[in-house]
Amino acid sequence: MKFDPASRIQDLRQFGEYGDVNPSITDSATYTFMQAKTMADTFHGETEGCFLYSRHWNPSNKYLADAMAAMEGTEAGWVTGSGMGAITTAFLQLCNSGDHIISSMTIYGGSFAFLQNWLPRFNINVTFVNITDLDAVRAAIRPNTKVIYTETMTNPMLQISDIPALAKISNENNIKLVVDNTFTPMMVTPSRLGAHIVVYSLTKFVNGKNDCVAGAICGTHDFIGQLIDVNSGTAMLLGPVLDPMRSSSILKNMHTLHLRMKQHSFNAMYLANKFVEAGVTIHYPGLPTNKGHETLKRMMDPQFGFGGMIAIDLGTAEQASKLMEKMEIEDVGYLAVSLGYFKTLFSNSGKSTSSEVPEEVQREMGLSEGMVRFSVGLDNDIERTWEKIHKSLRETGCI
Ligand code: PLP
Repeated sequence: MKFDPASRIQDLRQFGEYGDVNPSITDSATYTFMQAKTMADTFHGETEGCFLYSRHWNPSNKYLADAMAAMEGTEAGWVTGSGMGAITTAFLQLCNSGDHIISSMTIYGGSFAFLQNWLPRFNINVTFVNITDLDAVRAAIRPNTKVIYTETMTNPMLQISDIPALAKISNENNIKLVVDNTFTPMMVTPSRLGAHIVVYSLTKFVNGKNDCVAGAICGTHDFIGQLIDVNSGTAMLLGPVLDPMRSSSILKNMHTLHLRMKQHSFNAMYLANKFVEAGVTIHYPGLPTNKGHETLKRMMDPQFGFGGMIAIDLGTAEQASKLMEKMEIEDVGYLAVSLGYFKTLFSNSGKSTSSEVPEEVQREMGLSEGMVRFSVGLDNDIERTWEKIHKSLRETGCI
């Protein structure tokens, strides 16, 4: 049977305690036991269905984690208070002092800063590579390399990582492949392509409401068990847990994710073609001329399209600012960071979400100071949106 992430979520049949069609929210930090031994066993992770303390597990968080695992096709998941909480927890579980990581050079600025500036404080070092250059990935491997890290569709360049090829390299060298799939939920299922651990910022498309930050880690039972081990688990001991109220609302929003992804992709493809016609330099993996197009086609589930992210290059930061301010006035969407919202959001990556990346590295990865990244919204009339963009481009001298 075909792997359909949306049907897998729909088939979960998660009920509340009175047959509620939405699971009840567990509004408790602690849980009582009738027998002391059951509590002791639960402490050591040995009692199925029992909960101990909400930093460890909470039933509401478990429902959301199970939905994430169903979508990803992994054995298990765990949900965190932010995407960065998921990413940092996964790294700190996998790596010890003295270890080495290979990372895509183009990744979210916060992840870049964590790898570049924070981990070396604990003697964990990182080599940044062009992740589409598999020879460069192979050449960067050292005896102490523990993780290869990338984003399926990288932020902000929208490069496409060849996950099966990276998984092969990882397996041959006993390395874990960790993939951030924040930009491409449902469209691409990294764990089915060989990724060992998949991390998410749920803040973006998965929740889609821009009302909270949250994250998730998906992987094997064994790995999730390690994360929440009371003696050595990074999640248990650093405590980046998601609040159960939020888990509950994110779970409900996940039920429309498949529809939203289709509409984001449809609108992005429409705008991408219009930008091409208007002669604007554009990065969109849905365009056959894009370098990652064929790789993405091999990996994606076509029913969800090529995704809702596009980036255009206006040459200079000044020109980018002019266009963004005009588009805000014309109500194309909002000049704001983040993504996956019903409104189109746009920002100049080099000056915002990638500003942690030093300018020389930005140049090396091909990030122009005039790049404007769009998270295309759910607009019902995308033609009308294009008219506003076209007007903004004309009136600011971009075309
Ligand atoms: N991963 C990617 C690809 C992102 O774009 C972001 C934030 O923009 C994050 C992770 C971090 O997520 P959060 O802001 O939820 O911590």
